[in-house]
Amino acid sequence: MSEPSRALVLFSGGQDSSVCLAWALDRYEHVETVGFDYGQRHAVEMAQREVVRTQISEAFPNWAGRLGPDHVLDLRGFGAVGETAMTQDRAFEVTEKGLPNTFVPGRNLVFLTYAAALADRRGLKFLVGGMCETDFSGYPDCRRDTLDALQSALNMGMAQDFAIETPLMWLTKAETWSLSKSLGGEALVELILEDSHTCYKGERGTRHDWGHGCGACPACELRVRGYDQWVAAGRPALEARMR
Ligand code: ZN
Repeated sequence: MSEPSRALVLFSGGQDSSVCLAWALDRYEHVETVGFDYGQRHAVEMAQREVVRTQISEAFPNWAGRLGPDHVLDLRGFGAVGETAMTQDRAFEVTEKGLPNTFVPGRNLVFLTYAAALADRRGLKFLVGGMCETDFSGYPDCRRDTLDALQSALNMGMAQDFAIETPLMWLTKAETWSLSKSLGGEALVELILEDSHTCYKGERGTRHDWGHGCGACPACELRVRGYDQWVAAGRPALEARMR
């Protein structure tokens, strides 16, 4: 008998990690979530996490039984080290390395290391994250090569057998919408449109066809473009082979 498959989703309440949560619930028998408080500019991001979890449980009863506890880890000390536009009220710009100044050096490495320590304690094997190479943000710690190296380091350093799963790694933002539709149909698409939060500015007033947000910050721009491309393509579901 194989043991039940147990996963931990790095869950920010954003579009990508909300899709990752659905992907994990579709796939694993027990799924817990972890969020990181690193002094984000806006509390709305943290608040939407619980909304997405609750809405997913209510809309998808077969997933509700698989959804385990949520964990929030305090990484404010790390946030203070990597102070950038993400945590300070500074303009968005591109640094001399060609990286947006929203890049917090090593952030995903730290998140995954904390997640792995938690997963060790909770008996969770699969670490699921929304990292993606396709959106050209250029974050070096979102690359699959980086994550392969980190997975090896974590497994050696913790005497573990973790697998870092990145279901969005090779998908465009439009294809991420397609994945949502293939996992949970229009109900999941609407849930993610309405409840996931992407906007760097914490704007949740007007509901646009692509969701809530200012529509102008880099995160909103990416979200709007991806949604528009998906609509232009006829809102297709993802082909089963890509799941
Ligand atoms: Zn925005």
